[in-house]
Amino acid sequence: MAIAQNNIVTTCKILIGGEWVESSAREFSDVFNPSSGEVIARVPMGGYEDLDNAVEKAQKAFPDWADTPIVERARVMFRFKSLLESRYEELAKIVTKEHGKTLPEARASVQRGIEVVEFACGIPSLFFGETVENIARNVDCETVRHPLGVCAGITPFNFPAMVPMWMFPVAITCGNAFVLKPSEKVPLTAMLMAEILLEAGVPKGIFSIVHGGKDSVDAILTHPLIKSVSFVGSTHIAKYIYEKGTAHGKRVQANGGAKNHIIIMPDADMDQTVQALQASAFGCAGERCMAGSLAVPVGNAADELMERLVKSTSSMKVGPTDGNDTPDMGPLISAEHLAKVKGYIDKGESEGAEVALDGRKLKVDKGFFLGPTILDKATENMSVVREEIFGPVLSVVRVKTIEDAIELGSKCPFGNGAVIYTSSGRAAREFKHRFNAGLIGINVGVPAAMAWVPFTGWNTSFYGDLHMQGKESIQFYTQQKMIMTRWFTSSDEKGEKKEKFLDPIWKAKQ
Ligand code: NAD
Repeated sequence: MAIAQNNIVTTCKILIGGEWVESSAREFSDVFNPSSGEVIARVPMGGYEDLDNAVEKAQKAFPDWADTPIVERARVMFRFKSLLESRYEELAKIVTKEHGKTLPEARASVQRGIEVVEFACGIPSLFFGETVENIARNVDCETVRHPLGVCAGITPFNFPAMVPMWMFPVAITCGNAFVLKPSEKVPLTAMLMAEILLEAGVPKGIFSIVHGGKDSVDAILTHPLIKSVSFVGSTHIAKYIYEKGTAHGKRVQANGGAKNHIIIMPDADMDQTVQALQASAFGCAGERCMAGSLAVPVGNAADELMERLVKSTSSMKVGPTDGNDTPDMGPLISAEHLAKVKGYIDKGESEGAEVALDGRKLKVDKGFFLGPTILDKATENMSVVREEIFGPVLSVVRVKTIEDAIELGSKCPFGNGAVIYTSSGRAAREFKHRFNAGLIGINVGVPAAMAWVPFTGWNTSFYGDLHMQGKESIQFYTQQKMIMTRWFTSSDEKGEKKEKFLDPIWKAKQ
């Protein structure tokens, strides 16, 4: 594993044609342990040359894999699942080391990824086409699914195991070759997953890893042999990926950022709500596309909610996640990101929000730490309400009615998730039907779609047509072929007129 041993920082290799090789890159980026701030590896910032080598090998390996019976392809996933489970703890620890999640959070994220592999194991029974007999006289019609070829995935830092697994298990089981470019901030988990996949028996060239940032991404978006691009990351990059990828003739699905609203009605169960809101806003240090980052208490829900939430959140333990302690919340990914998130708190305060809980006061000797922060009495035009902060910062906009809450949602440029806490069926129905977001929770803090259903972000939280996960992911990684067959009957052979033999109306006229 490419990780610092005895204080020697190793450089990550790339995986091409089933072999780990040196990148041709001349520039490198540091990979940190965010709990300590120490450099644990170096990642090459590759470009077209690495990518082109990977694609060449992938393209060579593709035809044989596409012709491998689908049950055999699925069996590789069965073995992969079993190996992932046996190395579950090792995977969770590497996620914690390079990302900073607490171990329970890291384990849960690995589990979510394994569930996609379980879904992929079942792809043979979801691969059927459709058939219509006699679509014209003696003509049958069928559709079958074919893989696309070489597919690529570009992933963010915040879920080093789960997000890549949204992509490659499905793409590969569908018969494609897959090139992954993980986030340069967290390349190590992806490399461990690749090792495990090779051990599970994936043929050489069918799974590749290249490293880098914009140059590597641009190589993916323009390479003529890459057929599809799956992206997860921030909205402005998602839009860029979609526009450039489709302009180069690729199928693209691009998940973007989010600002997830949590509506709290006065009739909500406050014990449950406070607990769930705290977990949603501050779990994974708020570095989640499904984090509840904007609380919208309705009417007199606000005072009780705020009092209890501030009290409960202020007792959260924040600290290093790679030691023996299990804190409630870990660090942010980098020093730059920490500064950006603090900048948002400063801006929110200067724009008039009340700092009900100030995470800036937290002092930890090393690493990239910020305490949980609550900005009360924020208003709709503030940057802390309109923009994604991606840190442990909960903004609170107090509104009078559920209509106001729905209206606030309709002005939000994102559209990933939204949640309501209520005991009223009427409010819940109104909310789920009208709210401007694609993943809805009713008394559920983080309604992240599970492996079997599509991850249906809306607006600027998604660019494309077919989402990741569920049956839509199979549609994304395959193309359909329609086959029409005319069957000659015995009368054709005898030279009789078909109509005479088969047409009941003609017969009736005789
Ligand atoms: P990011 O957009 O900075 O990076 C994502 C990927 O794009 C990385 O692999 C990175 O190397 C690459 N990249 C960075 N800059 C680029 C550029 N200029 N041109 C081309 N490629 C570039 O995102 P991040 O900071 O790694 O992750 C956090 C973001 O991801 C948040 O906005 C979060 O909401 C989003 N996210 C969304 C979902 C979802 O399903 N909607 C899930 C997880 C994370």
